[in-house]
Amino acid sequence: MSATGGRVLVIIPAAGSGSRFGGDIPKQFRALAGKPLLQHVIERFMLDDQVSRVIVPIAEALLRTVEPMPRVQFVAGGATRQQSVTLGLAAAGKDVGDVVAVHDAVRPFFSREKFHDAVAAAREHGAAFPALPVADTIHVLDGDKVVMTPDRRFLFGAQTPQCFRTEVLREVLARAAREGDDASDEVGLAAKYGFDVRAVPGDSLNFKITRPEDLAMAERVIAEWGNEGSQS
Ligand code: C5P
Repeated sequence: MSATGGRVLVIIPAAGSGSRFGGDIPKQFRALAGKPLLQHVIERFMLDDQVSRVIVPIAEALLRTVEPMPRVQFVAGGATRQQSVTLGLAAAGKDVGDVVAVHDAVRPFFSREKFHDAVAAAREHGAAFPALPVADTIHVLDGDKVVMTPDRRFLFGAQTPQCFRTEVLREVLARAAREGDDASDEVGLAAKYGFDVRAVPGDSLNFKITRPEDLAMAERVIAEWGNEGSQS
């Protein structure tokens, strides 16, 4: 139990090079309303009374450049997102609360209420994440040829924070390492390994800033609603 009473450890994997964004600065360090995106995300979690502490895996070369913050620990990330999460959890040691949340460094507008919904569902079932129904029809292509069109009613975008009972995430990451699985999120691995993974409603404001136009949109969100990005 932390000084704040929070029992949720948050891991924000931020060790990627952000190549899709273009330019030299990884997208999580781009400025939004005058400060790095990652800082917005960390501060939002630190204001949350359910959060005990935050661990941020970043590129090893950047470790000496970050300003220390209370209850925030920067650690060296790994070669993939999954390895960065694994190193983050390992760095937490034994003093981990009952739930771990993994959040994308580039989603500054997650709603506190939906985060708490995911934490509660993870406590009950083992794992939970905010899901958003897809608006577009999704086709599976082989090259430029459509090979399958899944029924859209069953398709959901995976948002974060993705929440896990601590022992579930430990087991998922250990098994992925044993089996050589490398996934784009841990929820997919947990479901693959047979854990009970539940979706809670996500929201469109919790978008991922991956392209320059997303950053322009984020600036407009802040201009309209302030740093909180949303009312919750
Ligand atoms: O590149 P992508 O958007 O899939 O990365 C998802 C998240 O994982 C980003 O926040 C990125 O910084 C992080 N990541 C990481 N370590 C890596 C690769 C990506 O922490 N080696």
